[in-house]
Amino acid sequence: MRTWLSAHFSLEEMIATQQRGLDNRPPQAVLTRLRQTAEVLEQVRALLGDSPILVTSGYRSPAVNRAVGGSASSAHMRGEAADFICPRFGSPLAVCRAVAASDLAFDQLIEEAGAWVHLGLGGRWRREVLTWRPGQGYGRGLRP
Ligand SMILES: [Zn+2]
Repeated sequence: MRTWLSAHFSLEEMIATQQRGLDNRPPQAVLTRLRQTAEVLEQVRALLGDSPILVTSGYRSPAVNRAVGGSASSAHMRGEAADFICPRFGSPLAVCRAVAASDLAFDQLIEEAGAWVHLGLGGRWRREVLTWRPGQGYGRGLRP
């Protein structure tokens, strides 16, 4: 039985983690935010031509976030971020270009190592677009 947060995104996929043994159940306040995050992902999905989005990391409890080396202030811990891919639409860079060119509201959009997209919501809604590369860290804008 899946619990749906929105039409296409389930609670289970938004709280899945490889960190076996660590509690990753979201508190109530986070659950509310996960529903809002799922609604934004629905907008991204529509923007990408209704292509299925595969969430690789949504909510992270503080313990899970520490285990995966996430930032100490990670929006994932608030339920306000999702890492995802959308292979049917294209590469993470192509997805980032489409989201950046849209009028979608977000705080951070990060193309991560050519491997996935990080979309962070809430906070200051900066619409900040970044590229992350191993060994180089974060840089402004998108680059191949
Ligand atoms: Zn992320």
